[in-house]
Amino acid sequence: MNDRIDFKELHWLLTVTQNIDVGVVVLDQEYRVQVWNTFMENRSGILSYEAANRSFFSLFPEINERWLKNKIDSVITLGTPAFTIWEQRPYLIHFKSYQPITGQEDFMYQNTTMYPLRSTTGAVTHVCLVIYDVTDVATNRLQLQAANRELQKLSSTDRLTSLYNRGHWEEALRLEHARHVRYGSSAALVMFDIDHFKRVNDTFGHQCGDRVIQRVADVVREHIRDADIAGRYGGEEFAVLLPDTDKQGGAMFAERLRAAVEALDVMQEGEAIHCTISLGVADMTSPMDDYKMLIERADQALYESKKNGRNRVSVDASD
Ligand code: GH3
Ligand code: MG
Ligand code: MG
Repeated sequence: MNDRIDFKELHWLLTVTQNIDVGVVVLDQEYRVQVWNTFMENRSGILSYEAANRSFFSLFPEINERWLKNKIDSVITLGTPAFTIWEQRPYLIHFKSYQPITGQEDFMYQNTTMYPLRSTTGAVTHVCLVIYDVTDVATNRLQLQAANRELQKLSSTDRLTSLYNRGHWEEALRLEHARHVRYGSSAALVMFDIDHFKRVNDTFGHQCGDRVIQRVADVVREHIRDADIAGRYGGEEFAVLLPDTDKQGGAMFAERLRAAVEALDVMQEGEAIHCTISLGVADMTSPMDDYKMLIERADQALYESKKNGRNRVSVDASD
């Protein structure tokens, strides 16, 4: 009677194992498949009788054999479970995901647990791999991370021009100044302001003025190097930080920018609008109390350019 109950329970257990929505694989010490449930059949396309007694590694040659053997061997030797999680290793077996999500790779993210299985004598003779489909969790998390990166970008950039906003740009300048104090590195600062911009707004309207600001920002983007940090400082004022550059280098950059803006056509109802910029250049070679002094010096040089007729570059005179 008792035996019959045990068999019935065993039968139930097998049915549960077969139909549970996780992968269940039992391997012997030679990594040969002893149990292969329906989840594994459905996801791999390999039927249970085809997998039986085959080496797990011959079924999935893409698995890093040395790594997994190490894990399984330690489960057998120590008699304790081991885990792999999707953050470290997106999957154990490359299965296609049944929940394709746009912009995301369509494989199944997996967590895997490996349990030691003991024989009646207490010795560990087999290992059970339980493979969980965590695609939902993983893609949600990844999408959240992508959204956070986007938010971070939005909070550091200016909406109109996509250049850095003033807060982010000033923070970059502060760090560059700290680098200068510590390592003696140099950096140049170019500040500029669009000439007679009120006239553009008054003549062509505010929206057209916005487009002029955007096109000037495009010109800045076309002229900077990867390490340079360009920001919108105020309404139609911009600032470009040039690491590892001195006043002379900064002045050459400023002159190229000046000429490029002068040559720019911003089309408005078939008519080309032209504008010019006045620039000021300073660098870190002369002593400074803090990074704000560099802004003051570049701004002062900019003011000289305005005073001397606009559409020109002036370089800070302090040594
Ligand atoms: P100056 O050559 O002396 O710089 O003359 P200016 O007319 O450019 O004078 P100022 O720099 O003082 O004025 C800037 C004007 O830019 C004032 C403001 O209405 C306008 N402005 C500031 N921000 C924006 C913006 O985002 N869009 C538009 N369309 N106009 C802006
Ligand atoms: Mg102006
Ligand atoms: Mg201004």
